[in-house]
Amino acid sequence: MNISVFLGAPGSGKGTQAKRLSETGSFKHFSTGDMLRAAIGEGKLVGKKAKEYMDRGELVPDSIMIELIEEALSHISADARVILDGFPRTVAQAEALDRNPRTQVKLAIQFNVPEKKLIERLTGRRICKNCGESFHLLFVPPKQSGVCDKCAGPLIQRPDDSESVALHRLEVFNSQNQKLLSYFSSASKLQEINAAQEVESIQTLLRQILC
Ligand code: AMP
Repeated sequence: MNISVFLGAPGSGKGTQAKRLSETGSFKHFSTGDMLRAAIGEGKLVGKKAKEYMDRGELVPDSIMIELIEEALSHISADARVILDGFPRTVAQAEALDRNPRTQVKLAIQFNVPEKKLIERLTGRRICKNCGESFHLLFVPPKQSGVCDKCAGPLIQRPDDSESVALHRLEVFNSQNQKLLSYFSSASKLQEINAAQEVESIQTLLRQILC
């Protein structure tokens, strides 16, 4: 498998960019956050276990996350190009991928965005309850207030995008990310990008890096 991992703070745009890349048909996109929210919605045991951590803005334990991603990747063909968005978030998760020759990471892309912008992006974010499409009250407003452009589903604020939980998520991110950057940098697999630019410019840059 050709696996690229997207690293970066909550709100750095990893999901938006990964979704767009997967729409080209060239990449399989896995967002562990989306997978957990789906599991909660479907009443699955893993969702029940994860919810209390997610609501507090904490990381879900490595053992749960590693099992979740290993299971998902076990269904993917060996020649697939894969983007992992939101995984790994700890060195233990990165090591779990690299331990298996089939899932070794080829490239880690770090999305750099100044912290002030991240808070603005997170607290203004709204997602569709039905299809998960992401909007922003100021930067990507839906055509009709509160309604998804894609499927007409209702737009909601993720509970963990409230200001207090978002701030805590950024603290948690900062406590882990430097170690992850060192891990991938020492393996010469790290590429950092300026993710404070326009969505289209970042997409172009990513296609140059990945394609
Ligand atoms: P996200 O949608 O990527 O912002 O993830 C939402 C929440 O899901 C995070 O704040 C964590 O509680 C949990 N989560 C997602 N991915 C991971 C991961 N790789 N490790 C631990 N927790 C995760």
